[in-house]
Amino acid sequence: MTRTPSIVDRIGAAEGRIPFSVEFSPPRDADAEARLWRAVREFERMGPAFVSMTYGAGGSTRDRTVRVTGDLAEETTLLPVAHLTAVGHSVDELRTMCGAYADRGISNVLVLRGDPPGDPLGDWVKHPEGVEYAEELVRLVRDMGDFHVGVASFPEGHYRAPDLDHDTKYLVAKLRAGAEYSITQMFFDVDDYLRLRDRVAALDPEQGAKPIIPEIMPITSLRSARRSLELSGSKLPAVLEERLTRAAGDGPEENRAAVREVGIEVATELAERLISEGAPCLHFITLNFARATREVLTNLGLASHVA
Ligand SMILES: Cc1cc2nc3c(=O)[nH]c(=O)nc-3n(C[C@H](O)[C@H](O)[C@H](O)COP(=O)(O)OP(=O)(O)OC[C@H]3O[C@@H](n4cnc5c(N)ncnc54)[C@H](O)[C@@H]3O)c2cc1C
Repeated sequence: MTRTPSIVDRIGAAEGRIPFSVEFSPPRDADAEARLWRAVREFERMGPAFVSMTYGAGGSTRDRTVRVTGDLAEETTLLPVAHLTAVGHSVDELRTMCGAYADRGISNVLVLRGDPPGDPLGDWVKHPEGVEYAEELVRLVRDMGDFHVGVASFPEGHYRAPDLDHDTKYLVAKLRAGAEYSITQMFFDVDDYLRLRDRVAALDPEQGAKPIIPEIMPITSLRSARRSLELSGSKLPAVLEERLTRAAGDGPEENRAAVREVGIEVATELAERLISEGAPCLHFITLNFARATREVLTNLGLASHVA
């Protein structure tokens, strides 16, 4: 396997200012792929520490995901992280996926359990020859070779966890199993992030020293933000809901330009507070568009060369 820097090394090497990173999702068709590449080339000029590529529920876009993530490794200056989910896969298939990533020079993997395809909030059913929890997949990937593994964390607690202590216990278990960092679910209340950091440090100071990278979603449409929130189990604090609803107006169609403006302001405020609280990196959900993230980075003075 080609050695590439680990995410922890990469974000640790950033000097003077906080690094940022971005999340892409697998394109569904050729047009979407062309749009993704426009965003990729734009982000290349802004200098993200790394980029991550999500994995479609149940592996629905598997071949395209592996190919495009491999192309990011081979044809750009970006450092890709491949998301790998357990849902719907046997252990043999998961090993094959890791092998396919390694063949394309990818050694950074974000290990996840994934959600049931169809209804992500439906009952979780383990593949008969698969794994039950992400922790087992962390061990599997680590045992396969020279992979650097990250996992998911949940500032508001995972929606299936009965309480925050349960949630923290199993996050720490994933870190003890060999994960080097976590990336959070998107959130809008920085105190939730700070409490997560405190809970992990209190339970296990060694694991608490590992980076918890906050994920930020710049809202550009209230309707799609509500859908993402519903699927992720995250909440919009009442004061933000009110700000965005006011911007959306009460016409039959939401006022997209006004929502967008408030969404960028909200993401900028969130990022500013995270920077002042010592977050290790800012990870942006992009939906394969560069503009919103670029505007937030510009507000923060963080884009190297804003296109
Ligand atoms: C940054 C990020 C990126 C994501 N990317 C993707 C993606 O690309 N594709 C996708 O499909 N989904 C993605 N997801 C969603 C994720 O797959 C779901 O939130 C999933 O429900 C949980 O995954 P996990 O890896 O945290 O699971 P796990 O860590 O396995 O946890 C699942 C639940 O089980 C509990 N638990 C864990 N271990 C145990 C145990 N030993 N005993 C009892 N309970 C336990 C946990 O507390 C939690 O409630 C992402 C989420 C985040 C935060």
